[in-house]
Amino acid sequence: MSYAAEIARILQQLGVAPGASHGSGESLSVRTPIDASVLAVLPASTAADLELAISRAAAHYATWRDVPAPRRGAVVRRFGELVRAHKAPLGRLISLETGKIAQEGLGEVQEVVDVCEFAVGLSRQLYGLTIASERPDHKLLETWHPLGVVAVISAFNFPMAVYAWNAALALVCGNTLVWKPSEKTPLCALALNGLLQTALMEEGFDGAIAEVVFGDRTAGEALVAHPAVRLVSATGSTRMGRDVAMACAARFKRSLLELGGNNAAIVCPSADLELVVRGAAFAAVGTAGQRCTTLRRLIVHRSVHAELVQRLAAVYARLPIGNPLEDSTLVGPLIDGHAFESMQAALAAARALGATVHFGERLAGLAPAWYVRPALVEMPRQAGPMLEETFAPILYVTAYDSFEEAIAMNNAVPHGLSSAVFTRDLREAELFTSARGSDCGIANVNIGTSGAEIGGAFGGEKETGGGRESGSDAWKAYMRRATNTINYGSSLPLAQGIRFDVTG
Ligand code: NAD
Repeated sequence: MSYAAEIARILQQLGVAPGASHGSGESLSVRTPIDASVLAVLPASTAADLELAISRAAAHYATWRDVPAPRRGAVVRRFGELVRAHKAPLGRLISLETGKIAQEGLGEVQEVVDVCEFAVGLSRQLYGLTIASERPDHKLLETWHPLGVVAVISAFNFPMAVYAWNAALALVCGNTLVWKPSEKTPLCALALNGLLQTALMEEGFDGAIAEVVFGDRTAGEALVAHPAVRLVSATGSTRMGRDVAMACAARFKRSLLELGGNNAAIVCPSADLELVVRGAAFAAVGTAGQRCTTLRRLIVHRSVHAELVQRLAAVYARLPIGNPLEDSTLVGPLIDGHAFESMQAALAAARALGATVHFGERLAGLAPAWYVRPALVEMPRQAGPMLEETFAPILYVTAYDSFEEAIAMNNAVPHGLSSAVFTRDLREAELFTSARGSDCGIANVNIGTSGAEIGGAFGGEKETGGGRESGSDAWKAYMRRATNTINYGSSLPLAQGIRFDVTG
């Protein structure tokens, strides 16, 4: 069966075959990175389609916000159940559309289920504070309310999980949604949002509470500019996030930004090198180096540098690269030829700085798709392309002498998403996770930089955008806080002891 036929079958099975109801604009061809063949053609949304989607989401907000939160949680519970029931075809769809290996496709679907479970619990825990008032017979409270329409703009590399992080929380918080997925992965969005709409309808609500629109950055820009959209949650490159942040700031609109990463791991003299090799390999070559949390820099104590490079090179030489649908494959394709070009440009820049580049070549036998052997690059110092995010499997390795120097190197890049230290020295582990340590949103000990659980708040600092999604108290980003002072007495004392008597 061709991949296109398989996609048609999966979408049919999920009851979400693309049709005119999904847009009326020009055709969007979706290709699989597995062999570059066309998977499906679906209509993009026009400006009028977008307007309609936003106005429907805005109209439903007026009723959805009044639905008790645990009742909204029941919709998210049903959504999670539907996703769990269709885990295998959804995982396959992710692999077909993004080129992720089968295990990672399934893992991403599991993440959707996990965050739904989290949000169901959250729907009974949206709490505020009561605060001691300085005035007699007064009560000071914080109450939390939904924002309105939340726009979600997502990247190609997590075509389902990122939406679920946002949608599950935004919905239990009482918001309605408009999702613009990456133009490279609309089929995953069609499928996932289709299941969410089914869950809404089964629970007695209108599917238009969660709208989806298709298109490129123009559609994203239109969402950001629309006055009815109160929060833009945008995941993607730092370039995109800068545009979104400025457009939102100009309108005093909220943005939640999950942008690029240039993540490092420090390997100390006491590190368990077996753990390092396994952890670094998964973090550096998993998803073919196309995760925001991909390990891109390995900062290794000089005493173990040579041994670690040798062991990693041996692993890299025998990595099973190929069709991501085959169980034995660990490295699938790059998303497209642009990714390959930027990878080669970064390797050339590293060579020009005196680096030794191991691997990184294209597997030409698998053309026209873009398969590469991940690159391992010995850098004489941290400079040039090592300071940037190249969205491809390049692991730069460089040596350090003192732990303070290693922390400074970890922090000396514009991004601040994920980081790790491999050590058996308690002082190094504690220092790395302290205020004097890693400046990233994620700072791990003895595990790699990627593969976060949904229970923690996910996101990063500096040019990663500062947003936090998923677990912990990330829900607060989807709500507005009101401070309420309630006077249950019969006099009107003023705060700060001010006297202002108009009765004479
Ligand atoms: P991208 O920036 O090219 O596109 C992301 C999304 O933004 C797409 O839907 C795109 O259509 C839209 N877009 C682009 N320009 C826009 C604009 N000016 N206004 C509004 N929307 C716009 O990113 P990509 O290539 O799809 O994904 C890779 C990038 O995403 C990497 O930098 C990666 O690190 C980052 N990423 C970050 C996270 C995170 O949680 N921090 C997660 C996944 C991916």
